[in-house]
Amino acid sequence: MEQYFSIQWHITDTCGQRCKHCYIFSEDNSKPIVEMTWEQLQAVVETSEAMCKNLSHPHIAGERQSNHIPFFYITGGDPILHKDFWRLLELLKSKNIAFSLMGNPFYLRGEVCEKLYTAGCERYQMSLDGLTETHDTIHKNGSFAETLEKIPLINNAGIKSVIMTTVSGTNIHEIPALIDTVVKNHVDIFAFARYCPTSGLANQAFDKSTHIMPDEYQAFLDICWRKFETYKDSGTTFKEWAIPEGYEAKAIVLLGYPDGTAPTVKPRKEGRIIRIA
Ligand code: SF4
Repeated sequence: MEQYFSIQWHITDTCGQRCKHCYIFSEDNSKPIVEMTWEQLQAVVETSEAMCKNLSHPHIAGERQSNHIPFFYITGGDPILHKDFWRLLELLKSKNIAFSLMGNPFYLRGEVCEKLYTAGCERYQMSLDGLTETHDTIHKNGSFAETLEKIPLINNAGIKSVIMTTVSGTNIHEIPALIDTVVKNHVDIFAFARYCPTSGLANQAFDKSTHIMPDEYQAFLDICWRKFETYKDSGTTFKEWAIPEGYEAKAIVLLGYPDGTAPTVKPRKEGRIIRIA
């Protein structure tokens, strides 16, 4: 059985939205756009292949050295807007490297989805962060409707459609109804994660509205579990992280670019990080 090592790969900052919770733009909505060059993209693919062949960290791959294959979750920004996007997909196909995309709905047409499928795209993930008004306030007007419109195009092309929700105090009460909506619209996979406040001053008002108390979150998880039970034969998968059988859940996140100044890590508060060795 192939052992995949998942790598979430941000290839560009270019994006048609400026979501309130976006960690790329949280400090400055007009920040200069950074994008990987073709040479950097090639270097990441080669380095990832080499790294996966030689994984031997005891906490990652067991005591033995093991032979893994990269699985890229390509994102941005909106990855389809990278000038070498299609060239990158050709490169991955030539190397038989599996990938999925995490992007926006705006440039998906029937023929684009078919081209993505032919290029090897396994899953296409988009965000829905609440019902229409809440989602469009966080993202942009019309984004909710356009996301749902593109689900059949993705499904018909043979790609698995994924909806990911970032849960916060702003939208937590709408998620059960959102689950009904994604099932009704034949989404293949639904997943959610809890919102992590960004560091931007511009976002402070939004961040304050996002807080969830522990008992509220526990009650929310109970409701979600009941929804998942109700819809377990619906065709929509609610598996944790939606990892298919045969895949190993090992992940590394690339949040930056190879060149430029690395940001300084803020000192961690005492007792906030627990290491399980
Ligand atoms: S779609 Fe993603 S990358 Fe674009 S602004 Fe929203 S969160 Fe940021």
